[in-house]
Amino acid sequence: MGADTDAKHVAFLYASQTGNAETISHQLYASSVHHGHASSCHALDTYPASALPTLHTAVFIVSTTGDGDPPDNALKFWRTLRRTLKNKDKPLGNLRYALLGLGDTNYSNFCNTAVRLDAMLEEAGARRFYEKGLADDATGLEDVVEPWIEGLWPALNEAVGGKAADEQVEGGEAEAEAEAEADAEDVDGAVAAAVEALSVAQTQPVHQRLVVDYGALAQLQKLSGAPKSPPSICALTPAPAAASDSSSSSSQTLPPWHAALCAEHPDALHQPFVARLGAARRLTADAAAKRTLLLTIEPPAAEHAACRAGDAINVYAPNNGDLVSALLERLGVAADQPVLLAAQDERIALPPHLQRFSSAAHTLRQILLWAVDLTSPVRKQTLRALAECCADAGDRDRLLFLCSRQGAAQFDGVRRQAAHIVDLLHAFPSCHVGAARLLDLLAPLQPRAYSVCSVEAGRWQVAFNVAEYELEIADPFAAAEETAAAVVVRRRGVCTPWLERLATRAASADVLVARRPGHFHLADGEGRPVVMVGPGTGVAPFIGFLEQRAREKQAGTPTGPAWLFFGCRSPSLDHLFDAQLSSWLAQGVLSRLTLCFSRDEDARRQTGAQRYVQDAVRANAEELGRLLVEQHAVVYVCGDARGMGPDVNQALADVLCEYVAAHPKARAGLGVEERGGEEVGLSRAEALQVLVRWAAEKRYLRDLWA
Ligand code: NAP
Repeated sequence: MGADTDAKHVAFLYASQTGNAETISHQLYASSVHHGHASSCHALDTYPASALPTLHTAVFIVSTTGDGDPPDNALKFWRTLRRTLKNKDKPLGNLRYALLGLGDTNYSNFCNTAVRLDAMLEEAGARRFYEKGLADDATGLEDVVEPWIEGLWPALNEAVGGKAADEQVEGGEAEAEAEAEADAEDVDGAVAAAVEALSVAQTQPVHQRLVVDYGALAQLQKLSGAPKSPPSICALTPAPAAASDSSSSSSQTLPPWHAALCAEHPDALHQPFVARLGAARRLTADAAAKRTLLLTIEPPAAEHAACRAGDAINVYAPNNGDLVSALLERLGVAADQPVLLAAQDERIALPPHLQRFSSAAHTLRQILLWAVDLTSPVRKQTLRALAECCADAGDRDRLLFLCSRQGAAQFDGVRRQAAHIVDLLHAFPSCHVGAARLLDLLAPLQPRAYSVCSVEAGRWQVAFNVAEYELEIADPFAAAEETAAAVVVRRRGVCTPWLERLATRAASADVLVARRPGHFHLADGEGRPVVMVGPGTGVAPFIGFLEQRAREKQAGTPTGPAWLFFGCRSPSLDHLFDAQLSSWLAQGVLSRLTLCFSRDEDARRQTGAQRYVQDAVRANAEELGRLLVEQHAVVYVCGDARGMGPDVNQALADVLCEYVAAHPKARAGLGVEERGGEEVGLSRAEALQVLVRWAAEKRYLRDLWA
């Protein structure tokens, strides 16, 4: 591995929130080493800022989170790059780069990190050596990622002066492609086994039957568009029992490497620490569709003091123990045999989530509990790699079909079922994948984030829905008269069911936590009005805001009006923090509380409530408009990034238009271009621009969650 400053060195730099960009980046880095390039791979925040101006070739893989924000592991880099740009003209004049963005068009600001990074790099004097790729998870990341990677190698070879890609490949990527073509020609007989695959008996509750109609496969002569298998990176070797890391067995609620991680950067902002879990209280009625819990966490005093209302915390949770047992059983490996994890090729560094397990021996159970996400959505690359491990041609063909262009609809079906790796291995019984190969294929297990909703009395409280749900999947093989009888698939999240179990145990537990400070804080007093919009658990940070206002009120600090829009399904089922909000309303901590009930017509009729928060925002256009335009209120919106966030944004734009239509002179105070005459009103596009400007001025803050 050459120094990053070598003209021929390629640095793979990623910004990743859920692990997708990180996985792609590490796979590209390993392939790049196989292609003969001196390479390295880093999260953007761990890349030394001082080295940027001396870097010659970089490949950026970046995703976007929340409301178009950079992922947590790119925030420091972002600030440094902005500072560097301010202080120096064209500081990155040496740099050639390629850029792949990952995003989802279901959310606003699609691939915003990639688009902004591209502009910033260009402004810094860097030159793109290969076209930018923007992949959309709504239609399938692979549709863009695979062709982008295909074209990257020749472009990279040209940029750094290497040989043609195919001449350099070790590990047979070209071979794998040829194999896909050959496999595709041999699809006969697959259908005969299709019904068999559908009828795999469900003997274990943790895995679910996969419902896929492979009928189309029989008609196909050729499959195309299947991705290449990711490179093989990991190696596992048995270790003597005595070599096992003693700290690993000391706790089942903390990852085996927690002590080392806690000691790593004691002063860093996101440094993890151990906190004690307290009691949990249910906030929703038994009959409610969702179980929302309010959980107490006791952090060390210094961490508590540094946390502000509106911040979030990351919780490190393991995979479900039964799921790990089912996987170990299916793999046919000994769960408690200590193993050593290393890279097959000593030139390649393991990704950080696996590196943590490489300094000492651990059992495979520990590695599967804490290193990789066993519930993350299946990727086409994984299907391709599993196909190569099948002894049975039918299993192999079906897997190749699922990851091919021709099997796109069936692949979507698998994604809709939220199928995980254990489901797949049961659906394809002849697949004999090794544990080390699985570690190559599965995404890193990421900590889960929750807003801190109370920071009082030396402890934190978080509110969350326990992620356990059922999906109804239409069974393509059901007889016509049975079509209504869909297959029900049960799914559960990683962290919230675990927290619930721990909180209801008799003995208290320690968990690994890190603060995730953000920008979503209550503006300093001065009597400025505050408007808060937070349906469901989106109300969490506002509980902290109102606690803060209650304290300020008690201390005699002047506070302006505070108006909360809260939405739930029914006042009798999921009206979170009902009593507390009413009490704050009575005390004047909250000046106005507007409730919405989405699934309770009686309650709407009786109270005059609207269905959704954006309906209530529109229904109060006159008063809200006055607060926003005349009194410069600060608006806070928290909750779902996909539906509620954009809907409320549109509603606020409507409020501005309606207010200016009723009060034409108000236009002048909005900073929009003059169009002559008092009666011109405000167009929707202008209103949306005003909101963008208010967001930049921190008058309109959004904490949106994917
Ligand atoms: P929820 O129960 O799903 O929804 C609350 C209310 O919002 C329901 O009445 C729901 O109506 C309604 N709603 C549905 N679609 C809407 C839309 N497009 N616009 C406005 N309202 C809509 O809420 P939740 O499950 O608690 O989710 C809230 C969001 O906040 C999630 O995205 C969550 O990740 C995020 N969040 C979580 C935390 C945390 O710490 N756990 C903190 C902050 C934010 P129907 O269901 O009847 O359609």
